[in-house]
Amino acid sequence: MKKVRVRFAPSPTGALHIGGVRTALYNYLFAKQHGGDFLLRIEDTDSGRFVPGAEEYIVEALKWLGINVDEGIGADSQGPHAPYRQSERKAIYRQYVDQLLEAGLAYIAFDTPQELDAKRAEIPNFQYDAKTRGLMTNSLTLASDVVASKIENGEQYVVRIKIEPNEDVKVQDLIRGEVVINSSVLDDKVLFKSSDGLPTYHMANVVDDYLMQISHVIRGEEWLPSAPLHVLLYRYLGWTDSMPQFAHLPLLLKPDGNGKLSKRDGDRLGFPVFPLDWTDPKTGERSSGYREAGYFPEAVVNFLSLLGWNSGTEQEQFSMQELIDLFSLDRVSKSGAKFDYEKGKWFNHKYLQQKSNEELAHLFQQELVAKGFEMELTKIVKIVSLIKERSNFVKDFWEQSSFFFQAPTTYDEKTVQKRWKSETPAQMNELAELLAGIDDFSAHNTETIVKEWIAAKEYNMGGVMNAFRLSIVGESKGPHMFDITEVIGKDETIARIKRAVEVVKIKL
Ligand code: GLU
Repeated sequence: MKKVRVRFAPSPTGALHIGGVRTALYNYLFAKQHGGDFLLRIEDTDSGRFVPGAEEYIVEALKWLGINVDEGIGADSQGPHAPYRQSERKAIYRQYVDQLLEAGLAYIAFDTPQELDAKRAEIPNFQYDAKTRGLMTNSLTLASDVVASKIENGEQYVVRIKIEPNEDVKVQDLIRGEVVINSSVLDDKVLFKSSDGLPTYHMANVVDDYLMQISHVIRGEEWLPSAPLHVLLYRYLGWTDSMPQFAHLPLLLKPDGNGKLSKRDGDRLGFPVFPLDWTDPKTGERSSGYREAGYFPEAVVNFLSLLGWNSGTEQEQFSMQELIDLFSLDRVSKSGAKFDYEKGKWFNHKYLQQKSNEELAHLFQQELVAKGFEMELTKIVKIVSLIKERSNFVKDFWEQSSFFFQAPTTYDEKTVQKRWKSETPAQMNELAELLAGIDDFSAHNTETIVKEWIAAKEYNMGGVMNAFRLSIVGESKGPHMFDITEVIGKDETIARIKRAVEVVKIKL
């Protein structure tokens, strides 16, 4: 078998959509499973759609996710087929365009946009093809000396492929099986434009896949309609024998399943559809990304891997290496994959639980420092161990634990109404005194002493404990009470109780 070489070939037209990330991931998994190469090629022949920063964004996103590029843009070293940016390969394409022209498999067309519009207005469902090309201004209808003089006079032209009608063009797709399209529905696509001397996507894509010895083209379903044209191009160029195998991946659908997940859906529905934050340099429009939303890259990879592929088992959590071992195009579905954002959060929760408290504490510490709080790492480790179960993201930690770092300034009204009774202040003063006499403030010891005291006094356990919590936390949430007091320490615990006694007033 030919060495597996696959490529991810985005156009730098903006932030990389999460569907594009999945395409890159599946290419990467496939390559690594077969000991092959994963290339990154930038398809920037459409200068009108070029967006500054998009290429850097793509490279950074793949890096963040651990999708390592072996060859091309973003790879460690220059590859054997450099350059990998199509705009820099201009000189390479022209000879193949000429080859098609010489063989009569393509032709030169001079029709201006206005003339094309006029034809569209005149002929219903106009397309430039075998039926209409005889009515147009091109090298098939003009004498060769006229063509030559037009070119000499600097008239702009395009080169179009000449598609013969009435042929069933077969595309062998590794996911969909054989897809047959009759060539009569295809139009004579533009392959090259004299205005910038660059090929269009179709031409550049096929030439580069051939020259870069790509073995498999794994890309989104939106490219399936272009595949017959690509098959014909391989044949016209005499490259059928080295044509890559095709695999068109199913669409990512909106969470409700109605239509393709679009760039706009994310922030509209409250979740990111981009790997990283992005600000459009032209419009200033901001879109949120998974990284900044607090996702771990492993969780995003795992989540994306299952949008269109399944392992055939109950297992849901997969490391990158497991995915490499298990991935198979056979198990990629033909139908669209519904984007289930809640599942994405669930994955992050899972990965968060599996991280060590130390690692999470380091991450949390950075946030704390930014907020102006300092605490020794061992205490942060302890806090993390108490709250991680309730968190999906490191950024949830603060919400779950702010009371470890700062005393409450307000006391939740509802809890006060329910928990702060007329006898509470006296009980809390007593509790403060009891705590003052404890030397070993560890959770277990404090708990034993406090509970014995409550029992001996025949106080209501719930009543005292809830008021205690209100004093320390400011509301009725949080982990085990005595774990909190162990971390904040005796002085702080007593100070908070005293302050609550002073400040909390019951509304009668
Ligand atoms: N440049 C195309 C894109 O933006 C590549 C499609 C393909 O992989 O052939 O997605």
